[in-house]
Amino acid sequence: MQKIQNFINGKYVDPMKGQYIDNVEPGTGKVFAQIPNSSQEDLDNAVAAAKDAFPIWSTMSVDKRSRILHKLADLIEDHLDDLALMESRDNGKPLWLAKAVDIPRASSNFRFYASAIVNFSSEAQVSEGFMVNYTRRAPIGIVGCISPWNLPLYLFSWKIAPALAMGNCVVAKPSELTPMTAHLLGNLANEAGMPAGVLNILHGEGKEIGQAIVEHEATKAISFTGGTATGKVVGATASQQFKKVSLELGGKNPNIVFADCDLEEAVKTSVKSSFTNQGEICLCGSRILIEDAIYEEFKKRFIEETKKLKVGDPMEAGSNMGALVSEEHLIKVDSYVKLAKEEGGAILHGGIRLEKEGFYYEPTIIEGLDENCRTNQEEIFGPVVTLNRFSNEKEAIRVANSTRYGLSCTIWTTNLKRAHRVSHAVQSGIIWVNCWLLRDLRTPFGGMKDSGIGREGGNEALRFFSEPQNVCIKL
Ligand code: NAD
Repeated sequence: MQKIQNFINGKYVDPMKGQYIDNVEPGTGKVFAQIPNSSQEDLDNAVAAAKDAFPIWSTMSVDKRSRILHKLADLIEDHLDDLALMESRDNGKPLWLAKAVDIPRASSNFRFYASAIVNFSSEAQVSEGFMVNYTRRAPIGIVGCISPWNLPLYLFSWKIAPALAMGNCVVAKPSELTPMTAHLLGNLANEAGMPAGVLNILHGEGKEIGQAIVEHEATKAISFTGGTATGKVVGATASQQFKKVSLELGGKNPNIVFADCDLEEAVKTSVKSSFTNQGEICLCGSRILIEDAIYEEFKKRFIEETKKLKVGDPMEAGSNMGALVSEEHLIKVDSYVKLAKEEGGAILHGGIRLEKEGFYYEPTIIEGLDENCRTNQEEIFGPVVTLNRFSNEKEAIRVANSTRYGLSCTIWTTNLKRAHRVSHAVQSGIIWVNCWLLRDLRTPFGGMKDSGIGREGGNEALRFFSEPQNVCIKL
């Protein structure tokens, strides 16, 4: 069995206390690796390494930093097959999906910020004959990056790439459920020529080492992606020390289908936005709101298409969906399906755990629930969607906005004015019209309400990971 180590100061090292946690493969339900259960001593070592590396990394020319990050992007591409295999075993997602999306996107994240930093410029204001103001944007120092399990290397790299590009040194923690590809990144960073101590990767429990990273006086900014409850603790802890904090949290995203939509396209894409990655994407549309006039037709077609999905071994090319990330998560998902029945919902498809080793759950469609019931209000983060009727645009907007979340929304309509009107009325940081999950990495990414604070992506992330300093010169 593989036993992985922390990556500190450019080297793989055992945790100081010698404690490890089992890492279970969701596709088989068996332990396939052990990972460090890191402690404060490991964090202190990582911080010391980052402190030493900061003067080197932060003063390296932007051009050279950019070349190292481009090289890292190349190396991720070169190792696509190994990384995708590890991602799939670690998370339970289909291997084809890890190969097509997760790993290429991790490479794109580094490539994007390798280029973005070269093009990043700071602002200047000239008051003619009176004064000149310019804004210097310096790296912050040591920053903490904490990521979840659903898109392991994709989201890990989405945080650390801008932090590194801006010249910061990073102490990062992947989810303890899916640490394996982040672990492999250490070697690739060395091969890319990244100086020792610039990127440090610690493994372990969120409440222990995650919390310690947020609390450590040396980490001056925290970029966190995970659940809303955890984000609340992270935000409260970071603000005690006036740290910069970015929180990308949960969602309960509406997928609004108007009667004037392209129905075929809406059904096809809604199956994807419901069940891709076993529904374990924060951007999945878990509440489908359908206009009365097409409700029955949409429902019939949506069930037909969902029935075609094959849930199975992540390694098999024919599996549309793999395993859920853990037994505990599967039990949580199943408990929501049971709750939906108690709340008066009818299960139109799924609601069943597959009888095989591993954590497999059928894609599940529920109808007949009240908009305010828990199933329609709380994030389930699995392959479970509800179908809900609405009779007019006003009602659709009201129901869409009825949860505490505001991450993303999809709108299906061929009416251009309505598309804009509804987009502007829905309280979501990300709106897709007649599509889902398309992303230009230059755009700000993040949620409103309890889905988080701050925005990632593009120059937003470079600004977050920098300390602005205004210099004013009297003319
Ligand atoms: P989680 O909150 O349980 O854990 C996220 C990370 O935080 C893990 O690395 C965990 O170890 C760590 N952690 C836990 N407690 C901590 C603490 N007290 N201090 C510091 N770190 C701590 O979330 P999860 O179950 O891994 O991920 C699923 C959640 O993430 C869902 O709610 C999903 O919507 C959300 N998510 C959001 C986005 C987004 O961009 N908005 C993207 C992906 C996932």
